Amino acid sequence: MLDKLPHSIDPTLLTRFATIVGDKYAITDPQMQAPYVVERRDMFTGRTPLVLRPGSVAEVAAILKLANETATPIVPQGGNTGLVGGQTPINNEIVLSLNRLDRIREVDPTSNTMTCEAGVTLQRAREAAAAADRLYPQLLPSEGTCTIGGTLSTNAGGTAALAHGVTRAHVLGIEVVLADGRILHDLNKLKKDNTGYDLKNLFIGAEGTLGIVTAAVLRLVPRPRAIETAFVAVPSPEAAVALLTVATERAGGGVTSYELMPRLGLELALRHGSGLRDPLATSHQWYVLIELSSQHTSGLREVIEEVLAQALQRGLVVDAAIADSIEQAKTFWRIREMLGEVQRHAGGSIKHDISVPIAAVPAFLKDAHAAAVALVPGARPMPFGHLGDGNIHYNVLQPDGADKADYLAHWDAMNAAIFAVVKKYGGSISAEHGVGVVKRDLLPLVKDPVALELMKSLKRMLDPKGILNPGKVLARDP
Ligand SMILES: Cc1cc2nc3c(=O)[nH]c(=O)nc-3n(C[C@H](O)[C@H](O)[C@H](O)COP(=O)(O)OP(=O)(O)OC[C@H]3O[C@@H](n4cnc5c(N)ncnc54)[C@H](O)[C@@H]3O)c2cc1C
Repeated sequence: MLDKLPHSIDPTLLTRFATIVGDKYAITDPQMQAPYVVERRDMFTGRTPLVLRPGSVAEVAAILKLANETATPIVPQGGNTGLVGGQTPINNEIVLSLNRLDRIREVDPTSNTMTCEAGVTLQRAREAAAAADRLYPQLLPSEGTCTIGGTLSTNAGGTAALAHGVTRAHVLGIEVVLADGRILHDLNKLKKDNTGYDLKNLFIGAEGTLGIVTAAVLRLVPRPRAIETAFVAVPSPEAAVALLTVATERAGGGVTSYELMPRLGLELALRHGSGLRDPLATSHQWYVLIELSSQHTSGLREVIEEVLAQALQRGLVVDAAIADSIEQAKTFWRIREMLGEVQRHAGGSIKHDISVPIAAVPAFLKDAHAAAVALVPGARPMPFGHLGDGNIHYNVLQPDGADKADYLAHWDAMNAAIFAVVKKYGGSISAEHGVGVVKRDLLPLVKDPVALELMKSLKRMLDPKGILNPGKVLARDP
């Protein structure tokens, strides 16, 4: 997906960049570069003359200063788990990996904050919070690899956003290296700070196009004392939405996750996931995974039982299994977490990460299904994901036995068909994965023109030479 001729960088300039981090951390060997240029789903393969792995904020600043002076494009990267190609050096840019900035600078259980450098993985951040008897309330299936810098830069969502919000809700302070190498020091722990514009939110969700995040102060919450997890069969998406209402009316903010799964996804997970079995005795078309949590050590089991009993009575639930152990709850979650990955066993999958108002999800699913099969007869929609946020990964699998390449040739047309339905219901074409290169050219079609113009103005102001992740989110200036 080249969008201009590959950028070529003078070898003596490459040496100047390498000197900043030292030869050991300046990777030029293509084999050693592979983990930084190949995205794990193989949707994007980039190319770079140099991967830089700075070990300090000062080194990041020195790299950007030189990049700015020499108009050298840079692609920042965390764990390389992004799903929209934002972290891939598509035009031979230098890769700036933040994974050596991996110190947890502080955990402060009294202020309920944690200060992490950009390269700390989400899993390590959560473990450090747990060691202080706190919860860092963000959870992504990619937690072992994705980084705090990456989650901030994509404003990631995940399976706990229903109760705790997306990344923006977790960030109190930020440290950012600007395009010219200056450092914005804003690592404050304050809940209240009305001293002007909220600059940190410019960099959160900017996908590395406005600055390099080097550290952040993250908000912690008390660790739950009880968790209940149920795998529930529902007769329809309408029933799933109604069940969510029953659960939130009874448990309020204690509904931490509410995930939708179709039968097709469960079948693929059971077929390709080792040691998994169907949690329910008979098969059903739709399932939800519900997680409730509470600060009270007792009583939560009764709450989930009440919710399910009430829903059963109203015909909103047809069968359910409540996890009897942490192990069983993990098995339920494993099924859900495998849904993204197991699709590859079914051939080509045309993916969408959309959101619509929760009440509109059932109608969206119906219309999107009709649109998908009208375009490709026999196509198999496999919608799953964060129903509690109105965020559905609306992936459409190829017809059984079809040729994968022939099917994937429908990618743009399928996107257009599904996005038309998203628009009809007032939704978003990118709920949580971002824009990157995958959705960049669609942005002008869906974004308010004034908003788009403001975005371009901000980009020009913060990165006048266009060195930061050029061509991602916004097209390059002509
Ligand atoms: C199995 C799987 C499950 C996933 N589930 C979810 C999910 O539930 N919800 C969700 O929201 N996402 C999900 N993702 C997507 C992905 O994990 C998130 O987008 C994550 O936030 C990316 O973090 P990363 O460190 O891997 O960033 P990368 O992939 O390395 O980078 C992502 C973007 O951020 C930029 N960037 C990275 N670090 C910095 C930095 N320090 N400063 C400035 N820019 C930077 C990059 O240039 C790129 O544009 C999933 C991915 C996988 C593979």
